[in-house]
Amino acid sequence: MQLAEPSPSSLHPAAIAGARVNVLDCDRVGLGRLLGDLGEKPWRSTQIMRWVYHERHAAYGGMTNIGKVLRGKLESATEIRAPEVVLDHLSADGTRKWVMQVDAGNRVETVFIPEPDRGTLCVSSQVGCAMACGFCATATQGFSRNLSTAEIIGQVWRAAEALEHHPHDNRRITNVVMMGMGEPLMNFDNVVRAMDLMMDDCAYGLARKRVTLSTAGIVPAIDRLRELSGVSLAVSLHATDDTLRDRLMPINRTYPIAELLAACRRYATLDPHRSITFEYVMLDGVNDSPAHARALARLLRGMPAKVNLIPFNPFAGAGFRRSPPPVIDAFREVLRALGLICITRRTRGDDIDAACGQLVGKVMARAARHRAEAVPRDVPLSPAFPEAHAG
Ligand code: SAH
Repeated sequence: MQLAEPSPSSLHPAAIAGARVNVLDCDRVGLGRLLGDLGEKPWRSTQIMRWVYHERHAAYGGMTNIGKVLRGKLESATEIRAPEVVLDHLSADGTRKWVMQVDAGNRVETVFIPEPDRGTLCVSSQVGCAMACGFCATATQGFSRNLSTAEIIGQVWRAAEALEHHPHDNRRITNVVMMGMGEPLMNFDNVVRAMDLMMDDCAYGLARKRVTLSTAGIVPAIDRLRELSGVSLAVSLHATDDTLRDRLMPINRTYPIAELLAACRRYATLDPHRSITFEYVMLDGVNDSPAHARALARLLRGMPAKVNLIPFNPFAGAGFRRSPPPVIDAFREVLRALGLICITRRTRGDDIDAACGQLVGKVMARAARHRAEAVPRDVPLSPAFPEAHAG
């Protein structure tokens, strides 16, 4: 069957590379176009999406409001395929981590963080990461490839499925943060399309403010995100001067602090009532003095900003230590005294290596394979009740 050329903004090109299009690679417009190509009404995309995302159907058989003829066409032209869960860990604190198998033998990690008033899903955007931040475990494995839209939204699909079937934790996903493995703005089109699905009422229907993208600071892509998406923005700042940030985050050599903060100020004009979150990892003796806190407050002056202090999460071979709690508290109080909203991010899931910066998955890139194999942390797939593996 010959499909018409899809618009790059609505359908991942990889989606038509094979014989069958993965429905999870399509946003609503893209699916409508596909239906048009099949000689059907584009509006039927809303029906199909509700079955796929609300009812979690991965086959057309049970889609009772879709006629038999269309079902047959869809079966031959498409598939509905999310990544497979290969490992399922439950932390002592309730955080849950899934290792998911994506195409070409790679694995990525997805984390669910339940809190009394919300459930946050932390989603990966790439296999590995090319940012090479010195304090991040994902960086140690190098970069393999971008995830497809289906592999990104499929993480939400699988997590929702797993949470539904868990007898003791039927919490819902109320927030999504693009803070898993990878730099989301380096996989712009697929990430934006997946976030559009997160916000589409026919899929997950999350409000714009409940979808957050975290970036190491790809300045031109922050501007594109402002124009094309408008989700909540989090920026990994971690240093207050270019000399230190160049060392911690090599991307700073391309987009230094002043340019990054200028892009953040432009982003803030989208909605002056919505703050930009600045993440700041607390590294003992490196960036955690009261003088650093004062410098940070100066940098953020006049911007609707809040600061998330992240106690450094250690991993094998990391050359940093976590700042002691009193140092983190003092840093926070300096910022607060200067009028900034500042919280310390509670470390969640570190007993199962699910905390910030601890996600490694499995990267099958030639350059990184030996490193990935040097950290064998996979254990067999847990049975239906992951408590068996808790803590
Ligand atoms: N590439 C995106 C998403 C990364 S992960 C970004 O850079 O924002 C989300 C956050 O965890 C980032 O702020 C990242 O800098 C931080 N992080 C990475 N490694 C960490 C570690 N070992 N301990 C604590 N936070 C870490």
